[in-house]
Amino acid sequence: MNVLVINCGSSSLKFQLINSESEKVLAKGLCERIGIDGRLTYQPEGGDKAVSDLAMPTHTEAIQFVIDALTDAETGVVKSLSEIGAVGHRVVHGGEKFASSVVITDEVKATIEECNDLAPLHNPANLIGINACEKLMPGTPMVAVFDTAFHQTMPEKAYMYGLPYEYYDKYKVRRYGFHGTSHSFVSKRAAELAGRPYDAMKTIVCHLGNGASICAVENGKSVDTSMGLTPLEGLVMGTRSGDIDPAILEFIAKKENLDIAGLMNMLNKKSGVQGLSDGLSSDFRDLEEGADNGNKCAEIALSVFCYRVAKYVGSYAAAMNGVDMIAFTAGIGENSGTVRAKVCEYLGYLGISINSEANGKRGEEIVISTPDSKVTVMVIPTNEELAIARETVALV
Ligand code: AMP
Repeated sequence: MNVLVINCGSSSLKFQLINSESEKVLAKGLCERIGIDGRLTYQPEGGDKAVSDLAMPTHTEAIQFVIDALTDAETGVVKSLSEIGAVGHRVVHGGEKFASSVVITDEVKATIEECNDLAPLHNPANLIGINACEKLMPGTPMVAVFDTAFHQTMPEKAYMYGLPYEYYDKYKVRRYGFHGTSHSFVSKRAAELAGRPYDAMKTIVCHLGNGASICAVENGKSVDTSMGLTPLEGLVMGTRSGDIDPAILEFIAKKENLDIAGLMNMLNKKSGVQGLSDGLSSDFRDLEEGADNGNKCAEIALSVFCYRVAKYVGSYAAAMNGVDMIAFTAGIGENSGTVRAKVCEYLGYLGISINSEANGKRGEEIVISTPDSKVTVMVIPTNEELAIARETVALV
């Protein structure tokens, strides 16, 4: 079956058409500037990337252009819509309502809408994408795959905050965690590669991309993760602060005359390694180059980032009373041997030792620990689209 995987944002839409038997990407692309002017980037498997400016007042036009591109007589990859068996939609927040992926019905859409409060930037956009697809592909089954669902197995002690209980009771303020599709995909793959049963293993997945989170997976279940009610908590990220003393907010608000929106903008967009490097970059390639050239702020940004990752790994090893495998994934985790080496330097007490030649490789599935390392350390490229396609096929 061919599955169209859709990741819809407020003004953009990423897509991949995946054949579920071969697990090959038949075509992929991106619609940008929806509601502004509109641009489609489309690339069939083995073909050239084409960029076209096309008017996209709403997501419906954007999806129509995606369908036109996929079925185009020359550059398309299917003859007609009937060759697309299902659509898998990435949905950011499922709250406590969804602990797994679901086939989309009107009731499911209403429940996703109830979670809008928890992800006001993302969930409404995801719903717009679902509605647009339903309009243009009537009768094609659609599945929602949630970023939060994998973490619904966390115990209370991991998801409750030290806040008045009534906020949980009334508003469901708690840790939800994100990147669930990636943490699930990578931890399963880690078990496969180790040749061990998924339900009898302790794995720590470090998803280090522009957004970054760590997850403790015990016996196939997420038992803790570093992102919280929102993706702002936890690691220092590209532009997000991660954990800070909450009292800093009042202090900075008074000094800089900022309101809540100003503070949130600062925490989400101006902080992280971008802020720490004094505005140099949120991209680790720039930071590594800066640090190599003696830029002090780039050095600080890198060391704060790696130290925070190592502290989370240590706390999750404690939470699970041990760890069998650590997996690095996403843009930084897959590509930066420097970051992996710096993080693992802190983990000698776990009996971890790293093979620097293997760690020098980029973007491939590889064991980077030495044969005598007590914990296996791996790089496992994530593939959230493939994970969404698999979930979709399993449900339809
Ligand atoms: P992601 O959000 O998973 O797409 O990751 C994107 C981030 O990965 C970029 O912002 C970079 O910081 C990082 N990245 C990508 N390629 C490299 C590389 N070759 N070396 C270091 N960092 C990289």
